[in-house]
Amino acid sequence: MHFTYVTLFSNLIEGYFQDSILKRAMESHKFKISFLNPRDYSASKHFKVDDTCVGGGAGMVMTPQPLFDTLSTLGKDAYIIFAAPVGKQFTQNDAKRLANKSHIVFVSGRYEGIDERVIESFADEVFSIGDYVLTGGELPSLVMTDAIVRNLDGVLGNSESLETESFETPLLEAPSFGKPPIYNNLGVPSEYLKGNHSKIQALKLAMSECKTKYFRPEQLLKHKIRTSYEK
Ligand code: SAM
Repeated sequence: MHFTYVTLFSNLIEGYFQDSILKRAMESHKFKISFLNPRDYSASKHFKVDDTCVGGGAGMVMTPQPLFDTLSTLGKDAYIIFAAPVGKQFTQNDAKRLANKSHIVFVSGRYEGIDERVIESFADEVFSIGDYVLTGGELPSLVMTDAIVRNLDGVLGNSESLETESFETPLLEAPSFGKPPIYNNLGVPSEYLKGNHSKIQALKLAMSECKTKYFRPEQLLKHKIRTSYEK
């Protein structure tokens, strides 16, 4: 798989691939990355990429020409995603679905965002990573990349860990406990120590439901609707 980052600040992105799971996955050729800087495509004398808004308004926007010329260099396989607070909320389902693409291009906005004509002309999808505003699209692009890469075959050592993770079903993952079973006078649920697999599973399900009810009640509702259909 190939990820291309269209960004004015490639160094903000590069560092993330220098450690841990993503580094190993890249070294074992599960995916590769490349960068395009719209400034390199700017036709202006001083390689300008931003300007004030037509019709007034606060701040600067990324102007169409450098981005049109950058994105026009991409091949037909490129699936172009814009990071924007106004986009659709990125979810685990999107991460799984996008793991089947061969080439994803993430376009990071800066300033007050990107000229709408660029988005209208090139976007396959527009995603937000949450209801808050960041200074640029680099972090959102990394967040989406990380979530996608975890779903590529062979990236996680134990593929079972994907199946039991939060958002694989509407329920959040049950609490996990590492060894030792007693630490600083704090124990783990005693059922975990007795080795009865089906009882442990039943307890985990009950704890998942409690956790989901507390943190994400709307997810619990989805779970209840789904299980009532399955009956
Ligand atoms: N003026 C824009 C608005 O109010 O929607 C915000 C622009 S923001 C300062 C600059 C860039 O950061 C955006 O073009 C986008 O690429 C990125 N960005 C900021 N917050 C984001 C979020 N929650 N999800 C995805 N991208 C985001």
